Amino acid sequence: MQETVNKRRIAILGSTGSIGRQALDVVRQHKDLFQVELLTANNSVDLLISQAIEFDVNAVVICNESKYGQVKEALDPHDIKVFAGMDSVCDLVGGDNIDMVLTAMVGFSGLRSTVAAIQAGKAIALANKETLVAAGQIVMSMAKQYDVPILPVDSEHSAIFQCLQGSAGNPIEKIHLTASGGPFRTWTKQQIQDATLAQALNHPNWSMGSKITIDSASMMNKGLEVIEAKWLFDVGPEKINVVVHPESIIHSMVEFADGAVIAQMGHPDMREPIQYALGYPARLTLNNRKLDFAALGSLTFQAPDTDKFPALALAFESIRRGGNMACAMNAANEVAVAAVLKEQIRFCQIPQVVEKVMDGVDFVVNPSLDDIFQTNESAMARAVEIVRSMTK
Ligand code: MG
Repeated sequence: MQETVNKRRIAILGSTGSIGRQALDVVRQHKDLFQVELLTANNSVDLLISQAIEFDVNAVVICNESKYGQVKEALDPHDIKVFAGMDSVCDLVGGDNIDMVLTAMVGFSGLRSTVAAIQAGKAIALANKETLVAAGQIVMSMAKQYDVPILPVDSEHSAIFQCLQGSAGNPIEKIHLTASGGPFRTWTKQQIQDATLAQALNHPNWSMGSKITIDSASMMNKGLEVIEAKWLFDVGPEKINVVVHPESIIHSMVEFADGAVIAQMGHPDMREPIQYALGYPARLTLNNRKLDFAALGSLTFQAPDTDKFPALALAFESIRRGGNMACAMNAANEVAVAAVLKEQIRFCQIPQVVEKVMDGVDFVVNPSLDDIFQTNESAMARAVEIVRSMTK
């Protein structure tokens, strides 16, 4: 990582998504500290073009190759290099002009480029949790091997990371991972059976992309975050306690041997953890809303209900089974969520798809990266079949 004498030069993978746009807002406020070198997007051509021009980037990649011509034509006069396809992302993240890579793509698709960035020795600001869910063991040992920091961007994991800054090497006794509970927290199991897509997309506290919003409603997001925390902080699932905290003010907590608990707080605003990762270890100013404790009055907590939210139980089950199970679970969930977003299946059917895929997976105890890619592919194919059988 290049330190403050020069600007930190960053690549943003997935710049047109919710995290990518908020990251650029952070950069906009600290242009003296950050230089954006590379932006990548799947399909959002117009936004990618305007971002590239505004931040005067070195290069962009449009992953959908059929849109290359359109981007090339728009950016040629600005002397911005244009590439297409995932192979280009993997090549370019390793460039000498990049210090840090923010991985803000959606889902498993982020794994290849994250691996490429680690192998090129780049610091990783990790927003793509599915990378660790699918291949946590491999990614973390690779980060150790290449001596690159993995700075969490997920708000809960950023909170845990921040809580650990003052731990002086004392081990974690317990992580208290907070969850808002999503839009269906107060619904009965029966009501959730009838939940519509619009209701699932209506998150009470956080403004996020559609995939993670559905994951939050099913609480699969919290399950994915338990797995993410396990790998990032090297703790067993018995040391990770999920606690529902509807106000989303405490972003997570760490408990130590003496029972002392350190919490990190703030209004829910993803720019805060994004900025902390991009600027780490510096704390920079941010035009966010500050906490007024008297106005808050009280904070509340409750235990999660895995009967109402079986996806959370499935995630713990995937950790218990180990190997490639979390990868298969994640793949099934991605397919199921996409099917819900296209209104092919109902929201409440997500855990059914996931469970069926997990039960039929070819289990691998110590998966290689190739095994992970293969598991992802076969689990997705199986999930597509299951979705199809449900829509008949
Ligand atoms: Mg989160």
